Amino acid sequence: MTDSPIWQPFTQMKTADPPLKVVGAQGACLELSDGRQIIDAISSWWVTLHGHSHPLLAQALYKQAQTLEHVIFAGFTHEPAEQLAQLLCAHSPAGLQRVFFSDNGSTAVEVALKMAYQYWQRRDQPQRSRFIGFVGGYHGDTLGAMTVGQSSPWWQPFQPLLPPLTLLPYPATYPGDPEVETKEAQAIAQLEDTLKAAPETYAALFIEPLVQGAAGMRMCRPTFLQAISEIAKAYGVLVVYDEVMTGFGRTGALFACEKAGTQPDLLCLSKGLSGGCLPIAVTLATEEIYQAFYDDDPTRAFYHSHSYTGNPLACAVSVASFQLLLSEPERYQSLETRHWQCQQQYLADLNNLKQFRTCGTIAAMELETEASYFSELVPQLRRRFIELGVLLRPLGNTVYILPPYCVTDGELATVYQAIRQVAIEVAEGYFTAASA
Ligand SMILES: *Cc1c(COP(=O)(O)O)cnc(C)c1O
Repeated sequence: MTDSPIWQPFTQMKTADPPLKVVGAQGACLELSDGRQIIDAISSWWVTLHGHSHPLLAQALYKQAQTLEHVIFAGFTHEPAEQLAQLLCAHSPAGLQRVFFSDNGSTAVEVALKMAYQYWQRRDQPQRSRFIGFVGGYHGDTLGAMTVGQSSPWWQPFQPLLPPLTLLPYPATYPGDPEVETKEAQAIAQLEDTLKAAPETYAALFIEPLVQGAAGMRMCRPTFLQAISEIAKAYGVLVVYDEVMTGFGRTGALFACEKAGTQPDLLCLSKGLSGGCLPIAVTLATEEIYQAFYDDDPTRAFYHSHSYTGNPLACAVSVASFQLLLSEPERYQSLETRHWQCQQQYLADLNNLKQFRTCGTIAAMELETEASYFSELVPQLRRRFIELGVLLRPLGNTVYILPPYCVTDGELATVYQAIRQVAIEVAEGYFTAASA
């Protein structure tokens, strides 16, 4: 209980600790009102790329705010949006040359969903109205985004509101996984069977390429993405990549689709798009999808917009962030090796940490404990990590690190030492159900 009128996101207000007040942030560190410094090891929920309060982003924002802060985007355009669209087309997979703006990850997914659905109406195949998703898939919190992320436990209260989704198993894997081939074969066979049984029923398949974020940083192999993309394309089903989390260097490549060597029909980007500074999103589309809406008939247009679509401040910051990212690729390319070095140094000898895995800048592992009291353990772990000076939010049993690219060797070592400390304390029974 606090005196604040604020109802916090994803929070049980009755049992949660009072929120920590942040007064400033620089680089990878947050400064709390009591003077403590906390390392932001999850990039403030996966958005911060270059570090907090980056001077180049602040400069771009200030300059733009003095020139044009906002303007209606239907019937108007401006230089920051044009520049950003050009940059995105130049660096995302060839073939995605149409850019539709919105303002957060969930709306980028809503846009993809509506585009895919309406695309088939324009193509005179309105029966193609169903979607395919993966177990563990997360695509955002609005109703459309929940529809394609339906296996998420959080959406259970809303189940009756959601149209049916065809769910496929997801072959999550890790180095040394003896079952990876079997899991992939099962998922691939199930996709084939589904499409064979009802070939012209499906509009699109939605997937977070290479890494399922919210389900626990569950990673799959590029070959799996290639296989499912081929099958979907053989049956004419559109492939939508939700790269809201994986975009902009997170997987060690600029985009996961580049790393996987596959080409989606629609690509959703947000989070790191502005470097973690302002809310903005885009949905990239193929020329073929764009052309299905291109018509003399006004009713065939794509009717979707938000008040802040194409906001010039967010676009200007995004251009600055993208240029910075392109100018120092070694920052995101080197983190995978640094993760493995830290794992060797700090965690390799602990036997309650399993399935250590990385994908570019992201590292994750499973903390073994008695599952029965796990939900009570998670808030305790979060609290303990803060005591140790680190912001980490385990997802169930999964402890993951998703740092800003500016994280120093010293800061990364502190994060790994904190995980080591907590894993030892868990093994020693330091946390109990009673102290939740
Ligand atoms: C965070 C996330 C979203 C939702 O983005 P918001 O900006 O929070 O609405 C969608 N898809 C994925 C893969 C995400 O990680």
